[in-house]
Amino acid sequence: MARFEIERVPVLEDNYVWLVHEPAANVTAVIDPAVAEPVLAAAQRRGWTITHILNTHHHPDHVGGNLEIKRASGCTIVGPSHDRERIPGLDVEVSDGDAYAFGAETGEVFFVPGHTRGHIAYWFGGSDALFCGDTLFILGCGRLFEGTPEQMWKSLSRLRKLPDSTRIYCAHEYTQSNARFALTVDPANDDLKARAAEIDRLRARGEATVPGTMGEERRTNPFLRADHPGVANAVGLAGAEPVKVFAEVRRRKDTFR
Ligand code: ZN
Ligand code: FE
Repeated sequence: MARFEIERVPVLEDNYVWLVHEPAANVTAVIDPAVAEPVLAAAQRRGWTITHILNTHHHPDHVGGNLEIKRASGCTIVGPSHDRERIPGLDVEVSDGDAYAFGAETGEVFFVPGHTRGHIAYWFGGSDALFCGDTLFILGCGRLFEGTPEQMWKSLSRLRKLPDSTRIYCAHEYTQSNARFALTVDPANDDLKARAAEIDRLRARGEATVPGTMGEERRTNPFLRADHPGVANAVGLAGAEPVKVFAEVRRRKDTFR
Protein backbone atom coordinates (compact mmCIF):
# COMPACT_ATOMS: atom_id res chain seq x y z
CA MET A 1 0.00 0.00 0.00
CA ALA A 2 1.53 3.21 -1.05
CA ARG A 3 0.29 6.20 0.87
CA PHE A 4 2.87 8.63 -0.39
CA GLU A 5 2.46 10.46 -3.64
CA ILE A 6 5.94 10.81 -5.05
CA GLU A 7 7.16 13.06 -7.84
CA ARG A 8 10.52 12.69 -9.54
CA VAL A 9 12.30 15.96 -10.30
CA PRO A 10 15.26 15.42 -12.64
CA VAL A 11 17.94 18.09 -12.14
CA LEU A 12 21.55 18.76 -13.12
CA GLU A 13 23.17 16.05 -15.25
CA ASP A 14 21.64 12.92 -13.74
CA ASN A 15 20.29 13.74 -10.26
CA TYR A 16 16.81 12.87 -9.09
CA VAL A 17 15.25 14.97 -6.35
CA TRP A 18 12.16 13.31 -4.84
CA LEU A 19 9.11 15.25 -3.75
CA VAL A 20 7.19 13.15 -1.26
CA HIS A 21 3.65 14.12 -0.38
CA GLU A 22 1.79 12.58 2.56
CA PRO A 23 -1.84 13.47 1.87
CA ALA A 24 -3.38 12.62 5.26
CA ALA A 25 -1.41 15.30 7.09
CA ASN A 26 -0.80 17.39 3.94
CA VAL A 27 2.95 17.50 4.42
CA THR A 28 5.55 17.39 1.67
CA ALA A 29 9.21 16.50 1.95
CA VAL A 30 12.02 17.07 -0.50
CA ILE A 31 14.67 14.38 -0.51
CA ASP A 32 18.17 15.72 -1.21
CA PRO A 33 17.47 18.96 -3.08
CA ALA A 34 20.49 19.48 -5.33
CA VAL A 35 19.03 22.81 -6.41
CA ALA A 36 16.00 24.84 -5.38
CA GLU A 37 14.21 26.38 -8.34
CA PRO A 38 12.99 23.28 -10.26
CA VAL A 39 11.94 21.68 -6.96
CA LEU A 40 9.91 24.71 -5.86
CA ALA A 41 8.34 24.84 -9.33
CA ALA A 42 7.41 21.15 -9.26
CA ALA A 43 5.84 21.49 -5.80
CA GLN A 44 3.84 24.49 -6.97
CA ARG A 45 2.59 22.60 -10.03
CA ARG A 46 1.30 19.84 -7.76
CA GLY A 47 -0.19 22.31 -5.29
CA TRP A 48 2.04 20.96 -2.50
CA THR A 49 3.62 23.14 0.18
CA ILE A 50 7.10 21.98 1.13
CA THR A 51 7.25 21.35 4.87
CA HIS A 52 10.42 19.23 5.18
CA ILE A 53 13.77 18.52 3.60
CA LEU A 54 15.25 15.10 4.31
CA ASN A 55 18.97 14.92 3.55
CA THR A 56 20.92 11.67 3.23
CA HIS A 57 24.43 13.13 3.15
CA HIS A 58 26.33 16.37 2.75
CA HIS A 59 27.43 16.36 -0.91
CA PRO A 60 26.58 19.58 -2.78
CA ASP A 61 24.36 17.75 -5.29
CA HIS A 62 22.20 16.69 -2.31
CA VAL A 63 22.07 19.82 -0.14
CA GLY A 64 22.66 22.62 -2.68
CA GLY A 65 19.02 23.75 -2.56
CA ASN A 66 18.57 23.49 1.23
CA LEU A 67 18.82 27.13 2.24
CA GLU A 68 16.90 28.58 -0.68
CA ILE A 69 14.03 26.13 -0.20
CA LYS A 70 14.01 26.83 3.52
CA ARG A 71 13.86 30.57 2.86
CA ALA A 72 11.01 30.12 0.42
CA SER A 73 8.97 27.67 2.49
CA GLY A 74 10.07 27.83 6.13
CA CYS A 75 10.49 24.05 6.03
CA THR A 76 12.26 21.88 8.62
CA ILE A 77 15.56 20.33 7.54
CA VAL A 78 16.28 16.81 8.77
CA GLY A 79 19.65 15.12 8.32
CA PRO A 80 22.35 12.89 9.76
CA SER A 81 23.71 13.81 13.19
CA HIS A 82 27.16 12.59 12.08
CA ASP A 83 27.15 15.35 9.48
CA ARG A 84 25.70 18.19 11.52
CA GLU A 85 28.48 20.59 10.49
CA ARG A 86 28.13 19.75 6.82
CA ILE A 87 24.35 20.03 6.26
CA PRO A 88 23.28 23.62 5.57
CA GLY A 89 20.34 24.75 7.72
CA LEU A 90 20.03 21.47 9.64
CA ASP A 91 17.21 21.64 12.22
CA VAL A 92 16.61 18.03 13.28
CA GLU A 93 19.42 15.50 13.67
CA VAL A 94 18.65 11.83 13.25
CA SER A 95 20.77 8.72 13.61
CA ASP A 96 20.64 4.98 13.27
CA GLY A 97 17.45 3.35 14.49
CA ASP A 98 15.55 6.61 14.98
CA ALA A 99 11.88 6.62 14.06
CA TYR A 100 11.08 9.83 12.26
CA ALA A 101 7.41 10.78 12.08
CA PHE A 102 6.53 12.46 8.81
CA GLY A 103 2.80 13.19 8.72
CA ALA A 104 0.95 9.93 9.25
CA GLU A 105 3.95 7.87 8.17
CA THR A 106 6.97 6.90 10.21
CA GLY A 107 10.38 6.43 8.68
CA GLU A 108 13.20 4.41 10.13
CA VAL A 109 16.68 5.87 9.87
CA PHE A 110 19.54 3.59 8.81
CA PHE A 111 23.14 4.70 9.31
CA VAL A 112 24.78 3.50 6.10
CA PRO A 113 28.36 4.84 5.92
CA GLY A 114 30.60 4.08 2.95
CA HIS A 115 29.95 6.70 0.28
CA THR A 116 30.45 9.28 3.03
CA ARG A 117 31.12 8.74 6.71
CA GLY A 118 27.77 10.20 7.79
CA HIS A 119 25.39 8.83 5.15
CA ILE A 120 21.90 7.78 6.23
CA ALA A 121 18.87 6.29 4.48
CA TYR A 122 15.18 6.69 5.30
CA TRP A 123 12.86 3.70 5.08
CA PHE A 124 9.10 4.23 5.16
CA GLY A 125 7.71 0.72 5.49
CA GLY A 126 4.07 1.83 5.31
CA SER A 127 4.69 3.30 1.86
CA ASP A 128 7.27 0.70 0.77
CA ALA A 129 9.75 3.48 0.07
CA LEU A 130 13.49 3.66 0.68
CA PHE A 131 15.32 6.94 0.16
CA CYS A 132 18.96 5.95 0.06
CA GLY A 133 20.79 8.86 -1.58
CA ASP A 134 24.10 7.65 -3.01
CA THR A 135 24.41 4.39 -1.03
CA LEU A 136 22.43 1.97 -3.19
CA PHE A 137 21.79 2.71 -6.86
CA ILE A 138 19.78 0.65 -9.30
CA LEU A 139 22.32 -2.06 -10.27
CA GLY A 140 25.05 -0.13 -8.48
CA CYS A 141 26.28 1.52 -5.30
CA GLY A 142 27.98 4.77 -4.39
CA ARG A 143 31.70 5.33 -4.68
CA LEU A 144 33.68 4.96 -1.48
CA PHE A 145 34.72 8.57 -0.97
CA GLU A 146 35.01 8.49 2.82
CA GLY A 147 34.34 4.93 3.88
CA THR A 148 35.80 1.45 3.57
CA PRO A 149 34.58 -1.58 1.64
CA GLU A 150 33.79 -3.17 5.03
CA GLN A 151 31.48 -0.30 5.96
CA MET A 152 29.73 -0.22 2.60
CA TRP A 153 29.23 -3.99 2.48
CA LYS A 154 27.70 -3.85 5.95
CA SER A 155 25.48 -0.92 4.95
CA LEU A 156 24.25 -2.65 1.79
CA SER A 157 23.77 -5.93 3.66
CA ARG A 158 21.37 -4.15 5.97
CA LEU A 159 19.43 -2.48 3.18
CA ARG A 160 19.04 -5.72 1.23
CA LYS A 161 17.10 -7.23 4.13
CA LEU A 162 14.21 -4.87 3.46
CA PRO A 163 11.12 -6.43 1.83
CA ASP A 164 11.20 -7.33 -1.88
CA SER A 165 8.44 -4.84 -2.56
CA THR A 166 10.50 -1.89 -1.24
CA ARG A 167 10.87 0.76 -3.91
CA ILE A 168 14.34 2.23 -4.09
CA TYR A 169 14.39 5.97 -4.63
CA CYS A 170 18.07 6.70 -5.18
CA ALA A 171 19.53 10.03 -6.19
CA HIS A 172 21.00 9.35 -9.63
CA GLU A 173 20.11 7.87 -13.01
CA TYR A 174 23.24 5.75 -13.41
CA THR A 175 21.41 2.56 -14.25
CA GLN A 176 22.40 1.97 -17.87
CA SER A 177 26.14 2.23 -17.28
CA ASN A 178 25.72 0.26 -14.05
CA ALA A 179 24.05 -2.49 -16.08
CA ARG A 180 26.93 -2.64 -18.58
CA PHE A 181 29.35 -3.01 -15.70
CA ALA A 182 27.19 -5.53 -13.83
CA LEU A 183 27.25 -7.86 -16.83
CA THR A 184 31.06 -8.00 -16.59
CA VAL A 185 31.06 -9.23 -12.97
CA ASP A 186 27.92 -11.41 -13.01
CA PRO A 187 27.93 -12.70 -16.60
CA ALA A 188 25.93 -15.88 -15.99
CA ASN A 189 22.99 -14.11 -14.33
CA ASP A 190 19.97 -14.49 -16.63
CA ASP A 191 17.81 -12.13 -14.56
CA LEU A 192 20.50 -9.49 -15.00
CA LYS A 193 20.72 -10.03 -18.76
CA ALA A 194 16.96 -9.62 -19.14
CA ARG A 195 16.95 -6.56 -16.96
CA ALA A 196 19.85 -4.93 -18.80
CA ALA A 197 17.93 -5.36 -22.05
CA GLU A 198 14.81 -3.83 -20.49
CA ILE A 199 16.88 -0.89 -19.18
CA ASP A 200 18.27 -0.27 -22.67
CA ARG A 201 14.70 -0.15 -24.01
CA LEU A 202 13.61 2.30 -21.30
CA ARG A 203 16.59 4.59 -21.80
CA ALA A 204 16.20 4.55 -25.58
CA ARG A 205 12.74 6.03 -24.98
CA GLY A 206 14.20 8.56 -22.51
CA GLU A 207 12.40 6.97 -19.55
CA ALA A 208 13.63 6.84 -15.95
CA THR A 209 14.71 3.53 -14.42
CA VAL A 210 14.29 4.74 -10.83
CA PRO A 211 12.65 3.61 -8.57
CA GLY A 212 13.48 -0.06 -8.81
CA THR A 213 12.54 -2.67 -6.22
CA MET A 214 14.62 -4.47 -3.62
CA GLY A 215 13.52 -7.84 -4.98
CA GLU A 216 14.98 -7.00 -8.41
CA GLU A 217 18.12 -5.56 -6.85
CA ARG A 218 18.75 -8.64 -4.78
CA ARG A 219 18.60 -10.74 -7.95
CA THR A 220 20.62 -8.45 -10.21
CA ASN A 221 22.75 -5.86 -8.40
CA PRO A 222 26.31 -7.26 -8.17
CA PHE A 223 27.06 -5.08 -5.13
CA LEU A 224 24.33 -6.93 -3.23
CA ARG A 225 25.59 -10.28 -4.55
CA ALA A 226 29.19 -10.29 -3.33
CA ASP A 227 28.32 -13.47 -1.40
CA HIS A 228 27.09 -15.21 -4.55
CA PRO A 229 29.51 -17.74 -6.09
CA GLY A 230 28.83 -16.47 -9.62
CA VAL A 231 30.17 -13.03 -8.78
CA ALA A 232 33.12 -14.34 -6.76
CA ASN A 233 34.06 -16.61 -9.68
CA ALA A 234 33.80 -13.85 -12.24
CA VAL A 235 36.25 -11.63 -10.35
CA GLY A 236 38.70 -14.49 -9.70
CA LEU A 237 37.93 -14.79 -5.99
CA ALA A 238 36.05 -18.08 -5.72
CA GLY A 239 35.64 -19.00 -2.05
CA ALA A 240 36.82 -15.62 -0.75
CA GLU A 241 35.01 -13.69 1.97
CA PRO A 242 32.10 -11.63 0.62
CA VAL A 243 33.66 -8.37 1.75
CA LYS A 244 36.79 -9.15 -0.32
CA VAL A 245 34.62 -9.85 -3.33
CA PHE A 246 32.67 -6.67 -2.71
CA ALA A 247 35.90 -4.64 -2.50
CA GLU A 248 37.12 -6.10 -5.79
CA VAL A 249 33.82 -5.42 -7.58
CA ARG A 250 33.82 -1.83 -6.28
CA ARG A 251 37.47 -1.39 -7.32
CA ARG A 252 36.71 -2.58 -10.85
CA LYS A 253 33.73 -0.27 -11.12
CA ASP A 254 35.90 2.73 -10.19
CA THR A 255 37.87 2.37 -13.41
CA PHE A 256 35.16 0.90 -15.66
CA ARG A 257 34.47 2.81 -18.89
ZN1 ZN B 1 27.08 11.82 -2.97
FE1 FE C 1 25.14 12.39 -5.52
